[in-house]
Amino acid sequence: MTDQELLAAADAAAARAYAPYSNFHVGCAVLTRDGRVVEGVNVENAAYPLGVCAERTAFSRAVSEGFRPGDFVVAAITASPCGGCRQWLHEMGVERVVFRNGGRVVTMTPNELLPESFDSSKLA
Ligand SMILES: [Zn+2]
Repeated sequence: MTDQELLAAADAAAARAYAPYSNFHVGCAVLTRDGRVVEGVNVENAAYPLGVCAERTAFSRAVSEGFRPGDFVVAAITASPCGGCRQWLHEMGVERVVFRNGGRVVTMTPNELLPESFDSSKLA
């Protein structure tokens, strides 16, 4: 699967977002090392801070199905990932992130998205 195909899967997933408050639909499609695609969408809540981003729903779903950090190759997102999701992308060890930003398609590594990040090595 190409990055463009994965981004198309994220686009299709975004149509299933639950975003009645912002109407900002986001989709995320994650390609695993064994070739599976796990999709997520943003899920909002009337108590606004409780909403969850598409990236986090995708990775939460993947982890629930048995995947672990390092099992992911690419995450494709229909929008630029927020700061919190950049931390998640780093934690999940995805190799690269492909996302739309201002009409461009951008490819970056988690380290480029979140330099000098916090990780488990700081907890020792
Ligand atoms: Zn986010």
